[in-house]
Amino acid sequence: MPYVDDLPLKSQIFEAWKDRLGELGFFIDWGEPSCWACGFHYGAKYDIKKSDAGWSEILRCWDRIPLQRCHIVPRSLGGANDPTNLFLMCRECHDLAPNTTIPEVFFEWAQRQSFYVRDSSKILAAFNAYGIEPADQEELGKLIMSEAFHAWMSDKVGSHRPQSNYASVLSRFTPATLIGLAVHYRRTNIAQPQTD
Ligand SMILES: [Zn+2]
Repeated sequence: MPYVDDLPLKSQIFEAWKDRLGELGFFIDWGEPSCWACGFHYGAKYDIKKSDAGWSEILRCWDRIPLQRCHIVPRSLGGANDPTNLFLMCRECHDLAPNTTIPEVFFEWAQRQSFYVRDSSKILAAFNAYGIEPADQEELGKLIMSEAFHAWMSDKVGSHRPQSNYASVLSRFTPATLIGLAVHYRRTNIAQPQTD
């Protein structure tokens, strides 16, 4: 059967996989769609609100979610546009996933993805970029949370729409933005926040 846009609908991919995901070690909440690899959740607005939602509502919810339909074996390597060769993942996982003819390689990679781990490594990379030693990171983290810093930075930040990223905890401001400003704030000593 021909698929719209040449690819099956997300709900068709979900239906093809829903019973197999658990066996492969992927735990998906049918009413709270998230990336099948890293587990990133797009927020409550995409979730099923009612506990007695019917199957058609669940399918609609999977069609709405901004996950991408990613080939397990890429088309360029002969992979089919079939639900069994497609996996629903966030944009970042789509960019990072392996492209080989061996599905096992894809699954081994996908099973070990975690958006929390990935987020932490980005924050760590930003600390490193500004030369912040591990011993100093907690202190700077507190400064970032302080009201004084927030008041100071409010007219100095630009939000960034991630290009290959999902909306993470720091999605509105990249880690480099927040940590860079905190370092600058502390260095220029404009108004040291009260520490208690
Ligand atoms: Zn992901």
